[in-house]
Amino acid sequence: MGDFSGKKMAIATLGCKLNFAESSSIAQQFVRNGFAEVSPYSSGVDVCVVNTCTVTEHSDKKCRNIIRRIHKLNPDAIIAVTGCYATLKKEEIEALEGVSFVLEQDKKGSVYSRCIELLEGSPCSPSAAEHIFPACSFGERTRSFLKVQDGCNYFCTYCAIPYARGRSRSVPVDTLVKQAKEIAEKGVKEIVLTGVNIGDYDGGLLPVLKALNEVRGIERYRISSIEPNLLTEQMIDWIASGTKFQPHFHIPLQSGCDSTLKRMHRKYDTALFASRIDYIRKKMGDVFFGIDVIAGFPGETDAEFDSTLSFIRDVIRPAFLHIFPYSRRKGTLADKMEGQVPEIVKTNRVKALEALSDELHREYQERFKGTVQKVLFEGRVKGNMMGGYTGNYIRVERPFKADMIGEIAEVVI
Ligand code: SF4
Repeated sequence: MGDFSGKKMAIATLGCKLNFAESSSIAQQFVRNGFAEVSPYSSGVDVCVVNTCTVTEHSDKKCRNIIRRIHKLNPDAIIAVTGCYATLKKEEIEALEGVSFVLEQDKKGSVYSRCIELLEGSPCSPSAAEHIFPACSFGERTRSFLKVQDGCNYFCTYCAIPYARGRSRSVPVDTLVKQAKEIAEKGVKEIVLTGVNIGDYDGGLLPVLKALNEVRGIERYRISSIEPNLLTEQMIDWIASGTKFQPHFHIPLQSGCDSTLKRMHRKYDTALFASRIDYIRKKMGDVFFGIDVIAGFPGETDAEFDSTLSFIRDVIRPAFLHIFPYSRRKGTLADKMEGQVPEIVKTNRVKALEALSDELHREYQERFKGTVQKVLFEGRVKGNMMGGYTGNYIRVERPFKADMIGEIAEVVI
């Protein structure tokens, strides 16, 4: 361990919860060695790490702009860039002024040591690619993101993630339990399990859920997102049997039309998806379903999009939609497909999905009006209010009381 007291580091993070968990772990390495963590947009920073994302073209552009802004504010800082965009377009980032080095996704765990080598003036030696870099976020007092798995073997035709993050790898159960205990010791009560394709956990996810459920001090768990074909009935039965896993599921649907799902190389059809939702409702009641949908996948006709709308509206009726206009990613099969959908059509489809999501979300919240729910208050929000979530992910705000932050309270919502 070095002593870098007086040095400042900053980290800028884009993209998914997994990136945020990894960034938090990287920042902890610096802080443990004496660095003070500051905002990436302050001046006088010695080291700045940019953890990039490449989910859309817009994210690539945003990453480049952030790097330029940081360099302008801190022309002498070491700027280390890692993450998915850094993996897929290494040269593009290396060409940006001010970038000290770029580390691909599988070398993310070496960011700290490389920065220190540079800071101390020793040459950057290439290190062996790590198998998996365990990570969890500690920034929040009430909720922590714990990385369970990384990478993906699925190769959906629209997705560049398997190229950027590599094949599926899992963090060993023992490591996860140890990390969850450390999180609990800090007084955090809720953990969100993150990963690229969590359900593909080596050896099955259920033993991990069972082991984590036993960690004292953690009162709530959520799974950030899980493929419908991997959310098994056995897993649902166990979760429903009175565990700490909350009645809240985030499941990617992407399309409610079977021919589009086939072109996407998704591993389920609408019948399987609907049966999973039905099964969960039968076992756990009116749970919160957040569903991912892509608008304007290549070849998606008006009729196909209408099937998606009616599948969501008439069959599954989730509580919320996470909507993504299809974005072409180089190197993927969908990028080369015929029938690319014009931007204006995508925009209109996104708007239709947003209107449906608003309606479903309002309706879901209405059904719980006047009921007593347990809310974990997370912190102060605008004015003199505090905000938090119920187990089934309904946002609740109440007048601020410092002693309620980080506590779970029964509230009439
Ligand atoms: S399951 Fe499909 S969409 Fe999800 S990360 Fe893997 S390839 Fe991408």
